[in-house]
Amino acid sequence: MKELIMIKYGELTTKKANRKIFINILTQNVEKVLEGEKVEITKDNVRMFIKCENAKSIAIKLQKVFGILSIVIAYKVNNTIEDVLNKSLEIMDKTKKTFKVVTKRADKSYPIHSMDYSRKLGGLILKNSNFKVDVHNPDITLTIEIRTEGTFVYIDELKGAGGYPVGVAGKGLLMLSGGIDSPVAGYLSQKRGVTVECLYFESPPHTSLEAKNKVIKLASIINEYSGRVKVHVVPFTLIQEAIFKNCPDTYMITIMRRMMYRIAELYAGKIGTKILINGESIGQVASQTLDSMYCINNVTNMPVIRPVACLDKLEIIDIAKKINTYETSILPYEDCCTIFVPKHPVIKPELEKCIAYENNFDYKTLIEKAINNIETITNFKEDEFENLL
Ligand code: ATP
Ligand code: MG
Repeated sequence: MKELIMIKYGELTTKKANRKIFINILTQNVEKVLEGEKVEITKDNVRMFIKCENAKSIAIKLQKVFGILSIVIAYKVNNTIEDVLNKSLEIMDKTKKTFKVVTKRADKSYPIHSMDYSRKLGGLILKNSNFKVDVHNPDITLTIEIRTEGTFVYIDELKGAGGYPVGVAGKGLLMLSGGIDSPVAGYLSQKRGVTVECLYFESPPHTSLEAKNKVIKLASIINEYSGRVKVHVVPFTLIQEAIFKNCPDTYMITIMRRMMYRIAELYAGKIGTKILINGESIGQVASQTLDSMYCINNVTNMPVIRPVACLDKLEIIDIAKKINTYETSILPYEDCCTIFVPKHPVIKPELEKCIAYENNFDYKTLIEKAINNIETITNFKEDEFENLL
């Protein structure tokens, strides 16, 4: 294998004690996204190296792995300045005019200091080519990393996804609807190292198979960032119908969401997730005013992470477009929230009223039944759901 990719770790470099765990989980995640590719992976405390045949396409796949600061296609040569010069001249694009050299000396025993090395190599490049030096705004930044095992020469540095490797922070249960916000919430939590499992409430026949497939498709898109996503589908019809029958219109959504939180908390306990995650955003709809959040959140003691709580809708949409969930999210299939929407949902619900209305029916038995009938979908591949939509 003649090509080489060098990975620079993201924020994990600052977490000294956990560095080894972080790097091991990152390696597993890299192996997962490169499954089926012919590669050879090695790593140390500061860099990961991937020997491969098709560095460009591998680098693109790696851009979805959290915990990576940047990805470079590097060339390894001997530690002699002649070898470094030859490789540099070979890879510098002759259609460009100006350059600068940046030297990093990981091997502190190397006899020439970084600045002197850059100056010396720069001089040799000037002598042997038509390039000019521009230290402020160069067309080419040539980076030289001198390490004990050899010198690495590279030019283009692709930005990595940043964040922590998925898996280092434990598991969270994402309430995933077919909307725009919750897939973004899932993406952002994965970025902080959380392994996401999804909980989707469906209400057939009021909601369609297309609506469910849309959610699975969304899950499969955010799964590309981790390879660890599962979808748990909760049969929610009986609960929604009971709310419809037994509670006033204005409180239907508030109570429905309290039921969702109850189910999510109980199920999280079953599958060992420590937090709930959702796509609520302050003030976005009636059920997301602070009064509503207070009443709804009241049914659980589990931490609820709301990654998009303080973002504007347009900011959320920007992320959705960037991560490729937007086009799927806007497909027009009805969600269980949209079919029983009252004309005037309460925006300042009262906790006592929620409790009183809920006591109109035996929700505990219905919740137990729903949890016992959850269907779990795993190991999906995005294209399997492509033609179902
Ligand atoms: P999104 O917020 O994802 O765009 P939405 O706007 O349809 O979808 P809201 O009514 O804003 O959903 O609900 C707020 C949050 O509650 C969602 O972001 C999601 O986390 C959760 N949620 C709503 N409906 C469902 C559902 N059917 N299954 C799972 N979670 C849901
Ligand atoms: Mg929303």
